[in-house]
Amino acid sequence: MSYILLDGKDLAGRMKAEMREKVENMAAKGVVPGLAVVIVGNDPASRVYVNSKKKDCAEVGIRSFEYALPEETTEEQLLGLIDTLNEDDSVDGILVQLPIPKHLDEAKVIRRISPKKDVDAFHPYNVGELMIGTPIFAPCTPAGIMELIKDAGLEVAGKNCVVIGRSNIVGKPMAMLMLHNNATVTICHSKTKDLKSVCKQADILVAAIGKTELITSEYVKEGAIVIDVGMNRTPEGRLTGDVNFEDVKEKVSAITPVPGGVGPMTRAMLLVNTIKACNMHKANMLS
Ligand code: NAD
Repeated sequence: MSYILLDGKDLAGRMKAEMREKVENMAAKGVVPGLAVVIVGNDPASRVYVNSKKKDCAEVGIRSFEYALPEETTEEQLLGLIDTLNEDDSVDGILVQLPIPKHLDEAKVIRRISPKKDVDAFHPYNVGELMIGTPIFAPCTPAGIMELIKDAGLEVAGKNCVVIGRSNIVGKPMAMLMLHNNATVTICHSKTKDLKSVCKQADILVAAIGKTELITSEYVKEGAIVIDVGMNRTPEGRLTGDVNFEDVKEKVSAITPVPGGVGPMTRAMLLVNTIKACNMHKANMLS
């Protein structure tokens, strides 16, 4: 069976070209979207993510402001910075790179970000809006996946969608977006019994597990669309997905590669959300 390769790198590139034009038009009216990126501590993976987010911003003309705080930053200091950024008109989006050091309360930090600047869509206000189907910002990874599916002209309505993973940043919002797009949704997790047989019912299978190539052809129905969210590192340092691509590719109708599938879409959606935030905040200057 031949399959469609859902090329996130290509779509993200096209989206960025469009966004660049949009941002140029905004800049011509004196409005430049701004994203504040806060990083606490010295986690090397977080540093890589922050650098790529800053590079993405530069590519489309969004201004990025980095706040790199030391590991020993107190909660009061971090919350104080968020308060300042909430009030700063040059900042349209605020992102605190997770994870933050253990002595800081992640939930409290997320709640402190103004929902209007919460471009990651992790604040409970935005989670609630997503739940009732009126999101201001949709979380970047699931929103990027929906864009990728739509861009390929694939149908979601009426399909059986199985999401593996129930995290707040991927699994749960993914299930919600699929539901809002009229899929029939099942959420699986580490305690699900007989994962294989549940997955085999899926017309659309989304793997957001964090386990290298757990999903083999035995989990996949003939003709399914398979979305691999996983970004794992083997002990040798190789980047792997949650899906064994080579094993399932002959069975699927469409599949995302790792790398080059969901990852670039997640990054593109952060830019989409930042531009959206700016349009909201500065509507009077842009009309
Ligand atoms: P998480 O650890 O918060 O959640 C993993 C989920 O998988 C849990 O809900 C758990 O119940 C489930 N799970 C674990 N083992 C399982 C098993 N054997 N069978 C069934 N379910 C099982 O992870 P997360 O933050 O949701 O991320 C998941 C993966 O996606 C990771 O590899 C992460 O790096 C990746 N990720 C990628 C992007 C991207 O842009 N590509 C973005 C976010 C996360």
